[in-house]
Amino acid sequence: MRRVLAIDIGATNLRAALVGEDGEIAELRRTRTPERGILSVVGDLVEDLARRADAIGVASVGPLDIRRGVLLNPPNLREPGEIDVVGSLGGRFGLEVVLLNDAVAGAVGEWLHGAGRGLDNMVYLTFSTGLGAGAIVDGRPLLGARGNAHEVGHFVVDYRSELRCGCGGLGHWEAYCSGAGLPKLARRLLRERGEVASRLREIDRSSGSMDAATIFKLAREGDPIASDVVREFSRIAAAGIASVASAYDPELIVLGGSVYLNNRDLLDGEIAANLPEYSLGDPPPLAPAALGDLSPLMGAAAAALGEWRPQVRHKRDRRAPPRPPGDDKTANLALQGGVVPLGGPERKIFKQGLVRVLSSVHQGGVTTKTPPRDPRGTPALKGGEGGQTPG
Ligand SMILES: [Zn+2]
Repeated sequence: MRRVLAIDIGATNLRAALVGEDGEIAELRRTRTPERGILSVVGDLVEDLARRADAIGVASVGPLDIRRGVLLNPPNLREPGEIDVVGSLGGRFGLEVVLLNDAVAGAVGEWLHGAGRGLDNMVYLTFSTGLGAGAIVDGRPLLGARGNAHEVGHFVVDYRSELRCGCGGLGHWEAYCSGAGLPKLARRLLRERGEVASRLREIDRSSGSMDAATIFKLAREGDPIASDVVREFSRIAAAGIASVASAYDPELIVLGGSVYLNNRDLLDGEIAANLPEYSLGDPPPLAPAALGDLSPLMGAAAAALGEWRPQVRHKRDRRAPPRPPGDDKTANLALQGGVVPLGGPERKIFKQGLVRVLSSVHQGGVTTKTPPRDPRGTPALKGGEGGQTPG
């Protein structure tokens, strides 16, 4: 039986498991995410498991570039700069490595093995240290150019906001609805309601160590400010969920992440009550993640097992000679966000189309004229086999 090593690099926890093609987890390990040297800690954690695996699937906090297999200075990790996940783990263990955004992996896990089984359109939203989403649209996971499609945590939910997200932007959804954001929201409410006595205020003043778990605990105990923070969190969560539903038209939105899963008693009712206010038409059906906090890990395993594969795959073969610099200009240009040069017939068509657009602009602006057709009725741009099209 094939076995893969699945790794989940989260902002707070690292998880790793050996998963068989039957979906059974043979062994699960967890440790805290270190501030530095994340990949060497991951490598040590899985050293013996990797020897029993055929491939590695990694779900990680983003942003990342799945084409190069690297993390791009993720705001929710303390380790700065690019982190070469595929190169480091592939080189150390000599195995193929598939890298995915953790929320995408969560969506894949829930789509193939969890609450979204059998659906062609679903979204997975994770409320944990950060806030992420993965979307399955028309029966396939959306990735984007670098694997960062649906970074919905950075949707702006209040353009006048002074709350700054971990990424540096103002008014982002994640700045409110995440483990990292919740204390900022709480401090804002404490300031606005300075006259209200609250245990939360005392904790913040005495230790400054107010975290999401404390806020939810005090809300359960009836603390007025903590209760208001949770209500505000639920309202903003509902607003964001409605926006996500408008963007992807899902049949189901699966909610996961520790902040949500550990506090469903306080959140489910409030989110459901607020959702219609913000929704386009009927609010989307919601369901908790069936795989709990293992959705990303199981999605990473599914990708490594080939149940579903991102189009970009990474393979490190120690025997392969390194490519000389400048060997792959097309890829380099694409990576720099430049124009990918076209070759052969496409290049001709592309040039002709460009000339046509440019000349119409020179002749007085944008034209909506239909391109001339050749006798077979196909547009001249495609039909002119000799590349000659009427001017
Ligand atoms: Zn942000």
